[in-house]
Amino acid sequence: MQWTDFPKWGKWAADWALKYHSGLRDKPVRSQARPGDTLAALPLAPPEQPVPMDAIIADFERIVMPGITHWQHPRFFAYFPSNASPAAVLADQLVTVMAPQCMLWQTSPAATEMETRMMDWLRQAIGLPTEFHGVIQDSASSATLAAMLMMRERALEWQGNAQGLFGQPRLRVYCSNQVHSSIDRAAWVSGIGQDNLIKVGTGTSGWANEIDPYELQEKIIEDRKAGFLPAGIIAVTGATGTGACDQIAAVADIAEAEGLFLHVDAAWAGAAMICPEYRHLWEGIERADSVVLNPHKWLGTQFDLSAHYIKRPEDLTRTLAIQPEYLKTHGADGIINYSEWSVPLGRRFRALKLWFLIRAYGLDGLRSMIRNHVNWSQKLAERLRATPGFEIVTEPILSLFTFRLTRPGTDLDALNLALVQAINDDGRIYITQTRANGALVIRFQAGQFDATEADIDVAYEVITELARNLET
Ligand SMILES: *Cc1c(COP(=O)(O)O)cnc(C)c1O
Repeated sequence: MQWTDFPKWGKWAADWALKYHSGLRDKPVRSQARPGDTLAALPLAPPEQPVPMDAIIADFERIVMPGITHWQHPRFFAYFPSNASPAAVLADQLVTVMAPQCMLWQTSPAATEMETRMMDWLRQAIGLPTEFHGVIQDSASSATLAAMLMMRERALEWQGNAQGLFGQPRLRVYCSNQVHSSIDRAAWVSGIGQDNLIKVGTGTSGWANEIDPYELQEKIIEDRKAGFLPAGIIAVTGATGTGACDQIAAVADIAEAEGLFLHVDAAWAGAAMICPEYRHLWEGIERADSVVLNPHKWLGTQFDLSAHYIKRPEDLTRTLAIQPEYLKTHGADGIINYSEWSVPLGRRFRALKLWFLIRAYGLDGLRSMIRNHVNWSQKLAERLRATPGFEIVTEPILSLFTFRLTRPGTDLDALNLALVQAINDDGRIYITQTRANGALVIRFQAGQFDATEADIDVAYEVITELARNLET
């Protein structure tokens, strides 16, 4: 395959993309492959001679496609969305052709300056004040790791990188018991350690399963008495399991009084803040030191593009910048090298897809999409609530709620797991389970870019139909 062949196959891929999208509703959402199917179809050894493109493409259809779970299926209601909008996909194609390494300003000035402007557009769109400076990280996990490293360095007076953690005071970081596993991993990787990540209870006021501020305050006081060094708090807006939202203002009061760094994980829900009416969910956000949200989830800039906002970028560069001679840019002042703002050095040109996205749909178009998802999801919750045998376990937070089937005298965890499996084997929709207060519950979120209200109606039909068919 040479560049001269590219137009032919590029055209094929473009046609394939439309055909793929138009046919999605007829495919099962979750791949129905069994473990080992794809592996068994792949030869044990690589070819020595070139294989013609037609053969490669035929094998792609035959071997790969059955093993794909269709995240772009309009009836994907599992996990969180991972939307790829056509405008952002096109931008990524252009980027992939140029394949620039955007680690420094001079390795592609347009990529750096586009990133600066796009992070500012998005900042305005979600209503963060001008003191926040954005950088694109590959994922929320990386942004949270960077935030935890900032906490560590700040608490150790910027000596952690140089001296390591051996012989230092033992640091403590606080969060609720609802946080994503990426927070645990950041504690491991930053050297702070799982035992020093203190998980506080939630949901005492009935607001949104928020962190208990009294318990948080107590834990910090106890830790100081016991000789630990509190370093920071990680709050969450829209936790993965059931959408828990901490009361950011209450957490910020404690962070400020205790001199602690505050990072907010809004990986999923942050996208909804382009709609002003949802911003009460993170009221007080302007008092955070660091905030992460993932346009690669709900907004439509396909993985990966995570927006990380920080109040003092100098905290981040002081933690992560390193300049061997080969990375120095001489003779250009006032430039930004975004690789000094993130753990990995290499970076793709990700801002382009955000530029294409925001221009192609407009903020208004994106707002309508999110509002529709939230409204449809809340309507479905009401329909299920009114259906005998079903109960809503956690109320909708934006477009996410959990429910379960109840039948007297049955093991409800087993019953609901069986329903989830029956639904996903059926294939018309895709949902997942989670736990709420120890019980196994079914999790529903609407968020796919092309979903329509009729797709949510199908979800109701499938859930109630398969529940009726379940034997007890
Ligand atoms: C998805 C999610 C993450 C992880 O995001 P990645 O970009 O995949 O690292 C973290 N926190 C929350 C609340 C999430 O929903």
